[in-house]
Amino acid sequence: MFKISYQPYTLNMKYVFRIARGARSSTPLLLTAIQFEDIIGYGEASMPPLYGETQKSAIKFISKVDLSGFKDPFDIEGIMLYIDSIAPGNTAVKASIDIALHDIAGKISGKPCYRLFDLPEVKSISTSKTISIDTPEVIKERTLEAKNFQFLKIKLGSDNDRKVIEAVRNVSNQPLYIDANQGWKDKSQALENIYWLKEQGVVFIEQPMPVAMEDEMAWLKSKSPLPIVGDEGIQRLQDVERADNFYHGINIKLVKSTGLNEGLKMAKLAKKKNLKVMLGCMSETSCSISAAFHLASLADWVDLDGNLGVTNNPYKGIKTIDGKLINNDIPGIGLINPEVAWEKIKKDVNN
Ligand code: MG
Repeated sequence: MFKISYQPYTLNMKYVFRIARGARSSTPLLLTAIQFEDIIGYGEASMPPLYGETQKSAIKFISKVDLSGFKDPFDIEGIMLYIDSIAPGNTAVKASIDIALHDIAGKISGKPCYRLFDLPEVKSISTSKTISIDTPEVIKERTLEAKNFQFLKIKLGSDNDRKVIEAVRNVSNQPLYIDANQGWKDKSQALENIYWLKEQGVVFIEQPMPVAMEDEMAWLKSKSPLPIVGDEGIQRLQDVERADNFYHGINIKLVKSTGLNEGLKMAKLAKKKNLKVMLGCMSETSCSISAAFHLASLADWVDLDGNLGVTNNPYKGIKTIDGKLINNDIPGIGLINPEVAWEKIKKDVNN
């Protein structure tokens, strides 16, 4: 029998996080713990306000989940089909269930999740460090703080894009990933930006234009001298089918894909279609970050730094050392003593 517990949790950020579409200093989460017999798996829903889910909507959804019809903890496919049938959307809270189920399955079989998926071992992998939109002085400071990272991810899409890049380039030669978060509205201007960015040592451009501007995106893809990666435009598996009309690659995030089960399918389909695979995240605890690490062998680019810019990450899991995520080969998603963290989470929330 499965037993689901959950706790709303507010994840506080070290610095205000500013992108083309808004700013915030904390992120609402719903943390989950699912028990099967004597094994507990842990999961997480991260819900930045832009994406429509809230702690209230997540609790409303998870309250409807009834796993009493399921006896096999390895039937994650069947359980997730049922979870998906409860209501559309709600991808983050669905992911929180999927992640906990994978944690359980891994713990029962004594395998880290990547072994459950028959994926090759990745001992360590570089992640980019994201720097959000800010004044040139602050950007310089953040860039220097991230000097151990092999790649930086720079948020653009404001009126100051060139100033931002110049501030970074004043103090760093690190290769850059760019995320415009749909901030460029004119295709010719976007192309001009990309040509200029190529000269500045940029590797790829994430979501340059609004998702709805399909014709413009298709045009931009055909002309761009740098790969273009879809993030807001790529939510779930069905979006990968037509992704190559607009993008050279896709950004898979567990909060969008409803977790590892569908995230794995998205990565495999993307490979089949010769699309690049990026692994991304929101502001998250080490729970979701550790879970996503298990897809790393399928990724061309990894941006799993959401647990680094926060002040109250309750979990310990896959560690990031000198800009690299280090495999710990712990069965399940890779959390270290999560029971202790869970007790503290419950206490902190109740006080
Ligand atoms: Mg993005």
